[in-house]
Amino acid sequence: MGLSTFNLSTLYKRSPLKVLTIAVSSIFGLAACMTTQTMSDASQDKIQASKQYADGKFINTNKTSEQNLSKMWTAGKDFLFNKHDRAVPTLPLPIKPVEITSFDLSDSKALRFTRLGHSSMMIQISGKIVLTDPVFSERTSPVQWAGPKRFHPVPLNIDDLPEVEAVVISHNHFDHLDQGSINQLKNKVNHFVVPLGIGQTLLNWGVAADKITELDWWDAIKFNDIELVATPAQHFSGRGLFDRDETLWASWVIRNSDHALFFSGDTGYFDGFKQIGEKYGPFDYAFMECGAYNQIWRDIHMMPEDTMQAFKDINGKVLIPVHNGTFDLSTHAWFDPFLQIEKLAQENNVTLMTPVMGEIIDKQHTFINYAWWEPYLSEEAKISLKKMRELELVKASTVVENQLN
Ligand SMILES: [Zn+2]
Ligand SMILES: [Zn+2]
Repeated sequence: MGLSTFNLSTLYKRSPLKVLTIAVSSIFGLAACMTTQTMSDASQDKIQASKQYADGKFINTNKTSEQNLSKMWTAGKDFLFNKHDRAVPTLPLPIKPVEITSFDLSDSKALRFTRLGHSSMMIQISGKIVLTDPVFSERTSPVQWAGPKRFHPVPLNIDDLPEVEAVVISHNHFDHLDQGSINQLKNKVNHFVVPLGIGQTLLNWGVAADKITELDWWDAIKFNDIELVATPAQHFSGRGLFDRDETLWASWVIRNSDHALFFSGDTGYFDGFKQIGEKYGPFDYAFMECGAYNQIWRDIHMMPEDTMQAFKDINGKVLIPVHNGTFDLSTHAWFDPFLQIEKLAQENNVTLMTPVMGEIIDKQHTFINYAWWEPYLSEEAKISLKKMRELELVKASTVVENQLN
């Protein structure tokens, strides 16, 4: 997330000295991991040919305001001085340790998944495992001694993961592309499928070139029965001071002949969602960004009402809000995404699932959603939730009465 050349999340509550140290570590980190191995000429040609590429940078379809200096300044100020006092939970959040045996890979027809945290999903499809934006590290930062820290442990030990067919990456921000996790995963993953330009970073980290597939928007690749399609998003990229928008960002369609999933990555609301819905909808489940929002940077991170509209546009059946509940990357209370999206789901009659991290959702079995986050709310938020639910009950009974009359 964030608006400036830095990822703003790394600036939060840091002294100028720490900010400088993080920036310097980041630059030296980048330099130190340079290897002689480079992506092929074909990869460069693909970048040059991309409709999203102009003058050495990737661009959004619509103009976004994150390069507006005065907006950047307001956002930075808001981020540093205007945070909700519950931006971080007062207690560690609960998890459900993943029961790996529940992922029965011999069952090629099943669709199962669990949220490992933030935007990290573990999915079983066509008897294989697919991971989205795997982040297992304690902090989302260029260094592990500073930066936003997890609200909960990862509900799964990385060593317990079986062979992974594909890791899908939405973009290169630290909360989505985590070097520590890629290092630990690289030998058990068959394919890394990434937006244009990210392949070089993976090569630098020791991922074998033949495992890397870079895709432009609307490009697709199939591994046996699993199809992965890079679809548009409205965001930006960069991990250091000098690599702003040098790699592409994307949302993803993950599907086979029986099931279809959508993963939004990080994005503002834009008309691309309608196109995605028309081309690839409906989706059984949609993992939609809902967290780290702020009106100031609304065009690169959706507000909850944008998430709801985007979900409708893509023609989703079940909404699973992600990019929340794990890291503090904005100014809102950590629980705000859950409160807002529950309200919107009720108003829009949308099926919402907010599983505890590690809880498994299986398409064959009914999932009973419950507000696990409720006991962890502030007293003030509990009162407003109670009021909202009472109001919904009154509304619902009025509808029934009107229908009876
Ligand atoms: Zn993010
Ligand atoms: Zn991002």
